[in-house]
Amino acid sequence: MADKNWGNCKGCRYFNSHNAQPDDTEVAQCMEPELREFELQVTGMSGCNEFEARTGISGGAYQEPESAPVH
Ligand code: SF4
Repeated sequence: MADKNWGNCKGCRYFNSHNAQPDDTEVAQCMEPELREFELQVTGMSGCNEFEARTGISGGAYQEPESAPVH
């Protein structure tokens, strides 16, 4: 597996939670650009290596990369 950042969904910016600090049992959709089309419901204690740390900013307003991968 590639050596990317693995982390828990609860601390990931793609975790579609309305809480500033989601906990382990919270369930939300993963909004990672390549994964969101699958409408994955993940828990706070789930995780993957597409993890990107949340910033302190609440809400889901971030810029998505504009180039989608070729299918
Ligand atoms: S599945 Fe991966 S990309 Fe999606 S919220 Fe969890 S850690 Fe982030």
